[in-house]
Amino acid sequence: MFTIKNHLEVQNNHLIIGGADTTELAEKFGTPLYVTNESRIVENFSAYRRAFPDADIYYAAKANGSLAILRILARQGAGADVFSFGELYMALLAGIPHDKILFNGNSKTDFELQKATELGVRVSVDSLDELHTLSEIAQRSGKTVEIAFRVNPDVSPDTHPKISTGLRTSKFGIPAEEVVNTYREASDLPGIAPCGIHCHIGSQILDTEPFIEATEKMMDLVEQVMRTGIDLKFVDIGSGLGIPYKKGERTPQPQDLASVVLPIFNERTQALGISPKLILEPGRYIIGDTTVLLTRVNTVKKAARNFVGVDAGFNLLIRPAMYDSYHHVLVANKAASPPEGVYTVVGPICETGDVLARDRELPNVEKGDIVALLDAGAYGFSMSSQYNGRPRCAEVLVKDGIVDIIRSREDIEDLVAKQRIPARLM
Ligand SMILES: *Cc1c(COP(=O)(O)O)cnc(C)c1O
Repeated sequence: MFTIKNHLEVQNNHLIIGGADTTELAEKFGTPLYVTNESRIVENFSAYRRAFPDADIYYAAKANGSLAILRILARQGAGADVFSFGELYMALLAGIPHDKILFNGNSKTDFELQKATELGVRVSVDSLDELHTLSEIAQRSGKTVEIAFRVNPDVSPDTHPKISTGLRTSKFGIPAEEVVNTYREASDLPGIAPCGIHCHIGSQILDTEPFIEATEKMMDLVEQVMRTGIDLKFVDIGSGLGIPYKKGERTPQPQDLASVVLPIFNERTQALGISPKLILEPGRYIIGDTTVLLTRVNTVKKAARNFVGVDAGFNLLIRPAMYDSYHHVLVANKAASPPEGVYTVVGPICETGDVLARDRELPNVEKGDIVALLDAGAYGFSMSSQYNGRPRCAEVLVKDGIVDIIRSREDIEDLVAKQRIPARLM
């Protein structure tokens, strides 16, 4: 037995996760199959907890909103960052308390604002327009809603443009120079209690520099907002810590983030004589490396490249197609065998872009082998679809050899469950 990455091990040439043999899981539950190691979620959450002992940690539900996963995090004391009523509903159902949830979103419906108001969930407001809508909804409901504003700190982290969210031109947040006036306006509005400030600069960020810049800019804004007489009870600096998808890649850990963020946060709040709660919203770091996607080889073809056709495509893992992301690939039933060729792993979807892994050195790959895509926990299943008439796959949770199914495989009926052919077409 030896360890290949974090919690992943190899025994008898098979990939082992959380004490379970992936080839047996593939046999028992079928493929494609997402397999998540519960212990690794707890380890990752604990790393954040240790690094930021006094902060609140709100897990970003969009990274992976499966109920069992939300439940594991609820039991660890996590709150949640939610971006829709659906995510709010699932977070509450999993037992995350309403007062540890922040409702984010750049384009919320009136229904969503109404639900947040009724359920006593704080809202991160993204525009003046939304602020006025929320004030009306709160008044009609006879409630006061605690809000933060999502501000745009104008920071450009070095990440994929599609996951950089705090640029001047991004759709998220209130421009820094308008923040103070926005808080002034909010403090005069009925039904609204401005009590926090929020930003989130992007995802898969690989150095701490952008977080330093964002924290400093946020604390400048805190100071300006405070001068208007508003008491900020929390400062939420979002998330974005990257994880090492490539072998040997060095990425900052929560401890490294804390070592640059906390001195700024502590010094500035002390100087201002305030003690707001710090909130962080990690998604990818908590769940990314906990999960493998198992997919079976349907066919191997020697053409311009050696193509390995598997049964999962971008319908189940869209990151390579959408963000040019790298996922490390192993043959789960030949996990310790030496490489014998260069292969490109492709899905079954009718799109040229349905490539999961390009030009990888792998052992001799044959029909029936199980390919494992590592680090598939974040933005994997949560971004899946039924494209090309493919039911979504199952998810299992493993812990010390105990295996539980946490989402059953959709069947062919699920493809048509909500559809109707109008009578006049019969
Ligand atoms: C997506 C998102 C997060 C999580 O980002 P990660 O990079 O996955 O940690 C946190 N906060 C907000 C507002 C987000 O949109």
